[in-house]
Amino acid sequence: MENNKTQSKVLSIKNVTESTYILRIERNGFEFKAGQYLVLSIPDERKAREYSIYSAETDDFIELLIKEVTPGELSQELKYLKPGTKVQISGPFGFFILKDEDIQQKKPVVFVATGTGISPFRSIIRSNPDINYKVLLGVRYKNEAYNKEDYESNRFVLCTSRDKDLDFNGRVTDYLKQNNINKDALYYLCGNSAMVDEAIEILEEKGLAAENIKTEIFF
Ligand SMILES: Cc1cc2nc3c(=O)[nH]c(=O)nc-3n(C[C@H](O)[C@H](O)[C@H](O)COP(=O)(O)OP(=O)(O)OC[C@H]3O[C@@H](n4cnc5c(N)ncnc54)[C@H](O)[C@@H]3O)c2cc1C
Repeated sequence: MENNKTQSKVLSIKNVTESTYILRIERNGFEFKAGQYLVLSIPDERKAREYSIYSAETDDFIELLIKEVTPGELSQELKYLKPGTKVQISGPFGFFILKDEDIQQKKPVVFVATGTGISPFRSIIRSNPDINYKVLLGVRYKNEAYNKEDYESNRFVLCTSRDKDLDFNGRVTDYLKQNNINKDALYYLCGNSAMVDEAIEILEEKGLAAENIKTEIFF
């Protein structure tokens, strides 16, 4: 797949929580495999940041799920861009994708995310709705279950560390510790490095082969 640089207009910005929003931009022929990320910048400014693609391979726009980080340079600025503003995207980058043979064979896959780390998984699931998946999403509060309705309810576990009486009260790594794992499944881990490191340790301790674990670290 060729890397390309494209200028795209902002189509909309939709807040999904107080601090997290979906930035929708023109696709302009930008090709990618679900699970990959792009690098986004505002023309004539020096900052550029990586964002996993949230939308599907088949959508005619690109969506990114972005958390406004404070203090943070780009994530705050992007939130207030007006529709019609041009941004630059380059890519696609990364290998955090499902192999074609795993998609065809419906290999079980467990997607483990914290916060906006759900982004590549939504793209993979929306692009390949027939896969045999389970999502474990770790957030603090229930309102951070971004687009929960996009996942089959019996395949989605929300792990909330602050809100109680939901699917699971605790961190996503606590869920992994307290539940059996499927040793035949692939485990895709995405989010902050502390979660990813801890999850690898738990999964390997429970007997999962290292080659069944794939990771993408946001920060
Ligand atoms: C491969 C890859 C994919 C990424 N995909 C996404 C994505 O889909 N959505 C997304 O919101 N971010 C994503 N990020 C993080 C993103 O690139 C930026 O780091 C983030 O938006 C902060 O940029 P900033 O300029 O606002 O803050 P900066 O000034 O660059 O950083 C401020 C601080 O915020 C921390 N930080 C970065 N991201 C987060 C976060 N999500 N939550 C809490 N603290 C954070 C950084 O470690 C740093 O200490 C991804 C990063 C990588 C490497």
